[in-house]
Amino acid sequence: MKNIAIVLAGGSGRRMGSDRPKQYMDLLGKPLICYSLETFEASFVDAVILVCIPGDEDFCRKEIVDRYGFKKVKAVVSGGRERYDSVYNGLKETEGFDHVFIHDGARPFVSEHTLERCLHYVEKYGAAVAAVRAKDTVKIENGDGFVEQSPDRSKVWMMQTPQVFDRDMIADCYEKLKRDEKRLLDAGVYITDDTMVAKMYADADAKLVESSYDNIKITTETDMVIAEAILKKRSKEE
Ligand code: C5P
Repeated sequence: MKNIAIVLAGGSGRRMGSDRPKQYMDLLGKPLICYSLETFEASFVDAVILVCIPGDEDFCRKEIVDRYGFKKVKAVVSGGRERYDSVYNGLKETEGFDHVFIHDGARPFVSEHTLERCLHYVEKYGAAVAAVRAKDTVKIENGDGFVEQSPDRSKVWMMQTPQVFDRDMIADCYEKLKRDEKRLLDAGVYITDDTMVAKMYADADAKLVESSYDNIKITTETDMVIAEAILKKRSKEE
């Protein structure tokens, strides 16, 4: 079975409030994006597609892939407007593989153990997603800023990545999504992850794979401080 990863680094990082996209920001001596690329490089995954901000392809090839010696990166492709556009562009380069691991490059701390568990479940169910149980109580609002529903916390999970699928199934779903895009936008449906796409177009239920609370997504400046603390904790544990 052949496995490929799509590492997404095509976001502009508007919420970070910095002039540099967060994926290139320095995290204890290395660009943030290098951490997840290193984990895939050392794993059973056979190849990696790096999706970058349009125009950053040469920079990523020279300053990330060549400089840090990522041998498994077989293509650097340009991302799109939304995360799902970037995934769609990455999927075009995955033909011939059995499984695809879609991963946010903004999550530096995915572990090899999580990758292995996701592989186990994607082989069994065709769709698997790294996730953690919600620590906080989650509420659904009524659209007017007031609490309406209180989902049972024991059933609420926070989605992470990788989100892992049978390659042909998810590629077909994304083709359908692109054809259906206008209708979804008109209906106000906002696609925020890949399991949504697999459910909508292949009725696939992704298996929840309990991951680690360390597998955070770097979104704000505070997350960079947390990321440094996680790295320091890890180096003490080694
Ligand atoms: O914006 P958000 O934090 O949800 O982004 C999640 C991941 O998707 C990040 O790694 C980001 O670089 C990537 N992304 C992308 N293309 C976009 C938007 C986000 O590759 N248009």
